This record gives sequence, structure tokens and C-alpha cells, in this order.
Amino acid sequence: MNTHISGNSALPMQSGNILIVDDRKENLFALKELLSPHCEEVTCVDSGNEALSLLLKDNHFSLILLDVQMPGLDGFETLSLMRKHPKTRDIPVIFITAIHKDEKYLHLGYETGAVDYICKPIDPVLMQSKVSVFLDMAINKQKLEGDLQQSIELEKAKQTILDHSSEGIVNVDEFGFITFANPASARLLDYDEESIEKKHIFKLLSPDLSFIGNWQQSSYANAIKESSHIKENNVHLYKRDGSAVTVDLSFGSYHKGKEKGGVFVFQDTTERKKEEEALLVLATHDSLTQLPNKLIFKENLSSSISRADRYEHELYIMLIDLDRFKKVNDQLGQYAGDSLLRDVAKRLMSVGRAVDFFARIGSDQFAVIFEDDSFNFDADMVANKLLHAMETPFTYDQQQMDISASIGIVKYPHYGKTADELLDAADSAMQHAKQNGRNQFAHFNTKDQPLMMDKIDFEYNLRLALTNNEITCVYQPIVDTDLNTVMIEVLVRWEHPVLGVLSPEQFLPIAQEIDLINDLGYRVFQLAIEQYQSWCKQGLCSEDVKLCFNLSTEQFFRKMIVNDVLRIREEFGVDLQQIVLEVKETTLLEDVEMTSQVLHELKSMGVSISLDGYGAGFSSLKLLSNLPLSYIKIDRMFNDVEKGVNQKILKSIHHFAHLFSLEIIMVGVETLYQQQFMQEVGIEYQQGFWIQEPVASSEIEQMLSLKTDTTS
Ligand code: C2E
Ligand code: CA
Repeated sequence: MNTHISGNSALPMQSGNILIVDDRKENLFALKELLSPHCEEVTCVDSGNEALSLLLKDNHFSLILLDVQMPGLDGFETLSLMRKHPKTRDIPVIFITAIHKDEKYLHLGYETGAVDYICKPIDPVLMQSKVSVFLDMAINKQKLEGDLQQSIELEKAKQTILDHSSEGIVNVDEFGFITFANPASARLLDYDEESIEKKHIFKLLSPDLSFIGNWQQSSYANAIKESSHIKENNVHLYKRDGSAVTVDLSFGSYHKGKEKGGVFVFQDTTERKKEEEALLVLATHDSLTQLPNKLIFKENLSSSISRADRYEHELYIMLIDLDRFKKVNDQLGQYAGDSLLRDVAKRLMSVGRAVDFFARIGSDQFAVIFEDDSFNFDADMVANKLLHAMETPFTYDQQQMDISASIGIVKYPHYGKTADELLDAADSAMQHAKQNGRNQFAHFNTKDQPLMMDKIDFEYNLRLALTNNEITCVYQPIVDTDLNTVMIEVLVRWEHPVLGVLSPEQFLPIAQEIDLINDLGYRVFQLAIEQYQSWCKQGLCSEDVKLCFNLSTEQFFRKMIVNDVLRIREEFGVDLQQIVLEVKETTLLEDVEMTSQVLHELKSMGVSISLDGYGAGFSSLKLLSNLPLSYIKIDRMFNDVEKGVNQKILKSIHHFAHLFSLEIIMVGVETLYQQQFMQEVGIEYQQGFWIQEPVASSEIEQMLSLKTDTTS
């Protein structure tokens, strides 16, 4: 086949790819040369078979030039196969034929699906312009198809958004009639989509349709006129049954050619309101006990203060801290702890009046505000009732839990003018109650003032006190019936650079809280033993004189005290026979088994144990028999021996102490009468201001040197 190619064309290049199918290589070459400048890509194959297999793999062609006369599959057969396959069906094909413009063939070609013929010899200009026209058409068609697809997808996406939006979307025409409503709007208002459409929007905005006539005066119609937006919160929409739903609503207007209208978008706020309310409860209430939290407590306290000022009525705050709550959590687990806290909250509330404001302000801390306009509020009685409420053991999962509380009481405005000041004062008083042995209440007292300082500063300074040598000791002798010093009690002091000398009760509770009690206890050991050894070296005291140290409950945990005693022996080479450890009854009762074990260990090392403050607590006889005690220090509460009852008590304690081979130390001896009484009854040892107040080491030195002078 000869391809006659003449001339060249000035047609612009077009996008699009052309496939040329011709069995003759020279034709392929010539056609490619002619067409390449006018399209993106020209691909050539030399048989119908190859064309079909290429098209099935890759159908990105915009136009095919197909030779009619080919060996194997001819042009007609190739085209009719192409038209059967969906992938190739729509590609335009131009036949190239040397067969004369015989009508029979022309018809056959068009029937098979060719779009045009180019006859050989090829007229390049004619071919290029035909190719150009078909490429144009093919490309436009592809673009249109693409656009159509895109707009179908866009439409689908819009529909999906409208269908799945949780917000109600309603379109109205300029007269306020609904032309479209999405499923959410129908759902929210209990209509089906079709029945909501065509309704007037005022049917949804007002149950009695009374607004309908006023649409043109409505703000929505106005917004359409002015192309503006409206936003409204807490609007009522009415459901099909007439009940109202509260929604947040926005209205946007549009002008599309002559068409005007607006879109209402609304959201049901009922659920959100519920969530907001729940969040508010969560932020202001304790989820465990449902009591208000500290934040709300303080807010309420501030309001109570204003009321107390305005109406001049009385105002009390009580801070209730559970004793050793951590033990319940550690031993019985957190669920038991939670259950206990819930039950404690209920019992505390049962004591108060409806007007009293209870809150849980810390993990094991509750607080109450008592406002009283009758001026006969008996704070002690109420505090006692609160303590009493805890007496019956609590149960969890058939386990019994015992718990007590320490209560701090403060009265407005004596010890604080603001909520924070009052809470701090109540906290100090509560610490006092703890220090006094727990399960009791204490009123705030000016002696606690240092604890009112900024607590953070106080804690920080207390830590520094150890390194700054501000921790010191005073000493108080204990004498026998002949008034010879047989023991010296060591009492700690903090020489605060600003506040002056602080007593242990003013800082020990904080030391306990910040876990400093062991370091502090050890420092007291070091200071006093060093001092004691210096007295012995100077010959001021015989080594029979013992040093008595006070212990806090915390020093028993993890057997810290055993370690400290061993450490002190190593550091100072002190004979442990010279050491007496004073233990409070409340410490022993904390965990009888553990403390008893520790005390036996200490005893076996040579240390003597003295039971401090006996009689103030449980006065358990069983304790006396089971523990390795040497001395009992009777609490000061019995030292008013002018009272007959106290005389009887002292005599009987003395009596049974002897049964257990224990010696008695009477403390708080403040008068000659007391001192003589003790001597008469035969109480072995005495201590108190009458004999000697606690004093600095230099004064003890003087006292001891006077004694040695008189005896030598
Ligand atoms: P405590 O051991 O029950 O009693 C000693 C307290 O009674 C001392 O108060 C002392 O000054 C006071 N006192 C002594 N004689 C009389 C008297 O005739 N009349 C009156 N009214 N009081 C008298 P202080 O020094 O304020 O100690 C208070 C508590 O602090 C002590 O009570 C003790 O439990 C504790 N404590 C003192 N030093 C230490 C220490 O180094 N470590 C520990 N853990 N606790 C200590
Ligand atoms: Ca003591």
C-alpha cells in the first residue's frame, strides 16, 4: 500500500493520544510523522490483534486510525470486536482505506461503528483536520464525562452530608415554605421527611401558626431581603405532637438568580445541656460521695461569711479528718476505702441539720459550715455527735472497719476573716486534735498561730531548720522520792528565726505530714546523746541517769526506730541501757501486733520503754501485761490530787502497776502538795514544773553541778 503524503499543516497541537493500526510499517511511520506534532502521543501497532490486546490493557486513547485491509483481523472485524467490549466501545475510530469510496463499504464501516473514513492516498491536510475534529470531540467528551462524574460525586457528597448531619437542615423559599428538610430535622421534630416539606417554617416555630401572616415582617424574611444571617440560642421548635424542643439555630439566606430563600440549621441542645450539667456536677462535686468539693465549699463559705456579717449571726467551721484512713486503703484495698468514705459521708450528714453545708474537701477530709442565728450553737456537742457517729464499725464485703476522726473547730471571725484563713485555722486545730491522740476535737487556739503561716513556707522552713541547726532540745529532769535526778526527758524545740521558740505541738504535726519525723527524731537523738556524753565526761551525771526520748507513731513504721537506735549506738557508742523511749498509748493501739514486736526488739537491745500519758486514752490493762514496759507515765489529767477521785485513781494505778512490776512516773507536778502526795503514796518518780521546768542544756548543767557540789 502506498501512502502518498503531501504538504504540511499549521493546525495547533492538541492534547489526546492516537493509536494507529496498519500492517505496513512505512504507513505507520508516515502517519506518525504527520500526526505527532498535533497531539500528545502517537502509538503504532501493525495488526488488529495487537490493537485489541493493547486496548484491553490500556484504553487511554482518544482516537484510533484503523487500516481496513489487514491480514488476519481486518479493520471491520477489529472494530466490531472493539465495540463489543465496554472498555473499548466508546473510542472513536477513523478507517483508512484504499478501497474506493464504494458505498457498500462505507455503509459497512459506519454500521460497524467508524466515525469517518480517510482514503488513500492520504491528503495530509484533510487527515489532520479530520483527526483534529475527532480529537477535539473525544477530548470534550472525556472532559464532559469527567465533569459529570465530578458533579455526580459532589451531589452525592452533599447528599451524604445532608443525610448524615446530626444537625437539622431545612431550606425555605422566600415565603417561608419548606422546600427541603434533611433526615435529622425530620427526626428531631418527629416528622417524616416528605410531610415536613411544604409546611411553613412557622409551623415549627409556633404551635398555633399565629405568626404565619407575619412572615414578611419576620427577622428571617428580612434576612433574606438583606442577604444577612441570624444566630439564636435556646429557641423553641415544636414537634409534630406540639411538644417543644430547645435548639440553637442559625439562619443563612441566599439569592440564586431569581430564586431566593434561606437555610435553617438547628441543633437540639437538650443532650448538650444535660452533658453540661453533668460536667458542672463533676467539676463541683465529689463523684464518690456526691458531696460538694473544696471549690464549692470555699465559695459557700465566702457567702456564709457575708451573711454572718450582714445578719450578725454565728458561723462555725469544722474540719473532719479521718484517723489512719490510709491503713484501711492499704490493708483492705481501695474499694473498701471508697465504701468507707461513702458511709462516713452519710453518717456525718445524718448528724447535721438540713441547713448545714457538708463537703468533702480532701481524700479523707470533710468540712462543715454551721450558720446559727439562735446564738446557742453548741459546737462541742455537735463535734461529739460527729465523733459518736463513727463509733459503730463500718462494714464492707462482710469485713469490719473501725475508723475515728479528728475534728478541728474554728469560729468566725475570731480566727480568720476569709474562707482560706478559716480553713487554715480549722486545719491547725484538727492537727492539734491528732497530736492529742486522735478521735477527738480541738478548737483553734492562738497557740496554733504559727501553723497559720503560709503552710508551704512553713514546711519549707522546717526542712531547712534541720540543716540550719534551728532544731534544739530542752531537758526536764525526772526525780525519785528523794528528789535525785534519775532520768532526763528530752523535749524538742524549733528556734524559728522569725517566730521565736516553737513548741513541738506547733511543728510536729507538719513534720509528720511531710515525712520529716524520722529525720527530726534522729537529730534529737544526736543532740541529746552528744550533750549527755559531755555531762558524763565532766562528771556532772552518773551513767545511771537515763535519757528519755519521746517517739511519734510514724517512727514505728518500717521499724525505723530500731534502725535509728542501732545507728545511734554505732555513732556514739552509747550504752542502750541509758536510753528510755516514751511511747504514747495511742501509738501502741494503732497496730498492737506491730508495735509490740518492735518494742520487744528494742527491749532485747537494752532500751527501756515508758508508756507515756497513761490514763488519757484507753488505759488498757491488757497492754500493760503484754508489752515489755518498764515505766508508766500517768497523764497530767490525774495530777489534781486535791480531788479525792484522782487520789483513788492514782492509788489504784499504782497498785496494779506493781502487779506487773512497773514503776510509775507522775508528770505535771506543779505544787508542793502534789509532790508530797506522790511521795506519801510511794509513787516512784515525779516530773513537773514544781521540780524543774524544761530548760536548756546549760541550765541542766548548772543544776547537775550544784548537785555534785552538795554531794561531794
Ligand atoms: P509529753 O511527753 O506528754 O509531755 C511533756 C510536755 O509536758 C512538755 O511539753 C513539757 O513542757 C510539759 N510539762 C512538763 N511538766 C509540766 C507541768 O508541770 N505542767 C504542765 N502543764 N506541763 C508540763 P512540750 O515540750 O511542749 O512537749 C509536748 C509534747 O511534744 C510532749 O508531750 C511529747 O509528746 C512531744 N514531744 C516533745 N519532744 C518530742 C520529740 O523529740 N519527739 C517526739 N516525737 N515528740 C516530742
Ligand atoms: Ca513524754
